[in-house]
Amino acid sequence: MNPIKVPCRECGMEAPADQFRLHYKYKKMVCPTCFSGRTEAKRQKEQEEKVIKKDKPAGWDAEDDYLEKMSRSRRQEIEVSPFSRIPGTHQVQCKCVHCKFTFKYDPFKKTPRTCPYCNQDVPRLTTFNLL
Ligand SMILES: [Zn+2]
Ligand SMILES: [Zn+2]
Repeated sequence: MNPIKVPCRECGMEAPADQFRLHYKYKKMVCPTCFSGRTEAKRQKEQEEKVIKKDKPAGWDAEDDYLEKMSRSRRQEIEVSPFSRIPGTHQVQCKCVHCKFTFKYDPFKKTPRTCPYCNQDVPRLTTFNLL
């Protein structure tokens, strides 16, 4: 005589009806696989695999991140040099990169150190960024 197989309401797999047992956690009759905790273990493993796959694409590591950031800030330095010579004088004016306020900058005393308008640090003046 074949045992009657019924689908498990937890995992959907069929199992002999007489092997179903009441599980304290599911609060219902479950198949032997669910009862032993194997169904839950399998689900946990699937969850973990999903988390790993969500990570950054392979080959992208911290070094790439660093280089990317470096090249970006370097580019910005070249494109938006805040300093320019005041024509006909030895004086330098600085245009604040944050608020676009323009003010006189003393390259010898290196003052002001911050923008008089928004108080952001004035970048270091080098021959490189003096236009
Ligand atoms: Zn089951
Ligand atoms: Zn400013």
